[in-house]
Amino acid sequence: MANTKYSRVILKLSGEAIAGENGFGINPKVITEMVKEVKDVHDLGVEIAIVVGGGNIWRGSIGEEMGMERAQADYMGMLATIMNALALQDVLENHGVPTRVQTSVEMRQIAEPYIRRRAIRHLEKGRVVIFAGGTGNPYFTTDTTAALRAAEINAEVILMAKNNVDGVYDSDPRLNESAQKFEELTHLDVISKGLKVMDATASSLSMDNDIPLVVFNLNVPGNIRRVILGENIGTTVKGHE
Ligand code: UDP
Repeated sequence: MANTKYSRVILKLSGEAIAGENGFGINPKVITEMVKEVKDVHDLGVEIAIVVGGGNIWRGSIGEEMGMERAQADYMGMLATIMNALALQDVLENHGVPTRVQTSVEMRQIAEPYIRRRAIRHLEKGRVVIFAGGTGNPYFTTDTTAALRAAEINAEVILMAKNNVDGVYDSDPRLNESAQKFEELTHLDVISKGLKVMDATASSLSMDNDIPLVVFNLNVPGNIRRVILGENIGTTVKGHE
């Protein structure tokens, strides 16, 4: 195994990362670029679990705005993450990376149910595990899922891959030219400053369980590898002061 900083990681991919330019749906070309990056890191011997979002297809909050019951709309969001997971699995396997999808909502014909010990075993055997369906509960997000699964499988870090944003800023760099980037923060900073890194539930879970986070730009080739090798890119959010 190469000299990597981390040996077991959670990679959080938002739905946006799967949609590409148009911001909606599933774009296999975009997934292919991402998969090459994942394969590169997998080849280093790093154990990778991926938590995939679903915002490219559906968000519970949108359904709620349109008059749906929130829980119902959230279940649809969970299903969206499962579609993304299957697309990701397909492309990973086409690139020779062995995978398993585990869903938090049972769907036995399609994927394994989430079983913690089994997920760990898959990782030890060199399979990339894709966690789909979020936490399985409405009112949560896939960021919270990333924090939860990271704690459960003892991942050393959550890699928060962002679309065209290279870290955490004091204001939105896409709207404000003078936005300042943070090199390092604590989860408490994120919560108290109201920074848009993860939602507050995900941040407090990461803080309580001392899980560091690296926020970086997914769209620069080689970035996942850079983070894994310990290069200081993006913003590191530390578990504690
Ligand atoms: N969701 C949920 N519970 C979870 C995770 C996700 O209800 O534990 C639903 C929720 O409706 C959310 C949608 O799935 O809007 C898509 O997930 P998320 O918004 O986290 O995706 P991302 O923003 O990462 O694309």
